[in-house]
Amino acid sequence: MQKMQLITLVGKGFCRAEGENTRLDAFDRFDGKCEACKRQSSNRVLRCLATLIAACVFLLVVGNAVIAADRTTLFLPLAPEVEGSESGEGLFADVALGEQASPGWKAYRRLWQAHHADPANPGIRRFLGLPLKGDFESTAKRGRGAPRWLGWKSGSYAQVDTAHFVLYSKADREASMRVAEDLERCYWVWTQMFFPLWESSAQVSLALKDMGDDESVTSFLESSPQRITTRRKLRVVLCSNADEYRKVLGATPGVELSTGFYSDKYKTVLLFASEQDDPATRRHELVHQLFREATRSGLGRSMPATNEGFWLIEGIAGYFESLYLGPEIATVGGWDSSRLQFARYRLLVGGDSMSMDELRQDGREAAQARSDIARWYAHAILRTHQLLDGRSARDRQWVYDQLATLYKINAESASLEDELDWSGLDRSVRKFLTVDDQHLADNRVSYPIQQLCLAGCEVSETGLQTIPVSPSLQWLDLSRLPIGNAAVQRLVPEPEKLEQLNLEATRIDSGLQNWLRKATKLNEVDLSWTKMGDGAIESLSGATKITTLWMTGTQISDQSLAAILKMPDLESVDVQRTKISGAGVKQLQAGGSQLDVNPLELRTQ
Ligand SMILES: [Zn+2]
Repeated sequence: MQKMQLITLVGKGFCRAEGENTRLDAFDRFDGKCEACKRQSSNRVLRCLATLIAACVFLLVVGNAVIAADRTTLFLPLAPEVEGSESGEGLFADVALGEQASPGWKAYRRLWQAHHADPANPGIRRFLGLPLKGDFESTAKRGRGAPRWLGWKSGSYAQVDTAHFVLYSKADREASMRVAEDLERCYWVWTQMFFPLWESSAQVSLALKDMGDDESVTSFLESSPQRITTRRKLRVVLCSNADEYRKVLGATPGVELSTGFYSDKYKTVLLFASEQDDPATRRHELVHQLFREATRSGLGRSMPATNEGFWLIEGIAGYFESLYLGPEIATVGGWDSSRLQFARYRLLVGGDSMSMDELRQDGREAAQARSDIARWYAHAILRTHQLLDGRSARDRQWVYDQLATLYKINAESASLEDELDWSGLDRSVRKFLTVDDQHLADNRVSYPIQQLCLAGCEVSETGLQTIPVSPSLQWLDLSRLPIGNAAVQRLVPEPEKLEQLNLEATRIDSGLQNWLRKATKLNEVDLSWTKMGDGAIESLSGATKITTLWMTGTQISDQSLAAILKMPDLESVDVQRTKISGAGVKQLQAGGSQLDVNPLELRTQ
């Protein structure tokens, strides 16, 4: 049996873009799961084999420890009083590139490793310009030097200076400091990830050139004290709220939908404070700024990728939205990246693909003029993940080379002569997205997650068990996986923040009802083809925001009609192949003119 149906689901956030003379790419973060089809998965056996092979390739063993190899590990600056540790685990950016990584890059990584082994070491702190107390230093004062185009009165805002940023802020002190610190940490992470493109890479390489392979970084710096210098600070503006942000950006088209903006013209990132911190947007815009301003970009006044290849400009910024900052270590990429959940839904559930040929051909304006811009962003970011997280040093090298070309940076890295095998990458992208228990076990996440879509994957309760309890989970899609009540309850014991839940064709039953009762923020629910019955509808009575309800193939009966009709925001409900009678369906249809009843086209094969 196959069911085909267009479902339109509300997307996540919105945002942003760049360029004063182009419209804001308002759909940049509007990924959403729109235009996707509900479809039964196929080719399970083949896919299972493929993922097994992929899992073997993905496995990276360092010494005896298996480490997450589907993401890159980077160091964060530490306070001097932190106890040192040997941070030998993780796939580091230079290591991932294999022999192509320059000696300077390797030395820079060793420097960070040495900093982690001995955070108090003054020679290393001096070299990196880290404060002698704490891991982060800033000064805040009443602002007087903000750029004129902001239109801010002198003294009406704060100016926060850190080592690499100047932040003009109308937000409260706490928010300003939090943003400043995050920017500074992200800066250090980016320098390690994109060392060959960083403006100080030549300086660092030269400074550490004579450090022998076996020589300790500490003793080398004692005999040869140095310090990294940078040309100028990067400018960030933090408005107190969205209205102020919109006022500052004025007539920029699409600004009302954006949550952050990098202006190439003003060389400034613009953000606004809100109750819910939005690190993904901030880091996305920051990455645009870093490639432009923390490199020796020769773009001058022109914009990157005007004629073609714009996908990677947005792809790399979207890739950095996956940045996880732990207390000491950061990672970027990995199967749990939020953008990859949407990509899984899009590709593995909806069958929506976009070839690399199509993606590569658009320049900035062509991309921004696309009617399917949200889809275009989703694929651009997915493909960046595929190239960087897919364990191919050659693919990875291509990303560095291409970024150097797009931003006109004279990088020290070697250039590839050939293009990549684009059609091969098109063929393997589904495999890249499809994870299994082994992959989850080998690439464990140590932190709770907010979005999880494993539909179309080969994950069982064993794999799910590796994911930490995630109380802030907003979207959970485990459709068609052999998962029962207990696994769902363990993952998110209090589903208070859950907004979208898809447990179609899983092993759940009425034992999950008490749990469902607590999920009062739900707006989209799919319990189709499960053993659920009228009790499920009863337990959803507190979830007054439900707009879409799939109960196809369940045990619900006419008993549930009144409760369904009482759902105030319900727009669509499917009750085919249930115990609801023909008269019951008519009752639903008559119940509300806005209500779409049985939208699914069921076909029996
Ligand atoms: Zn962007």
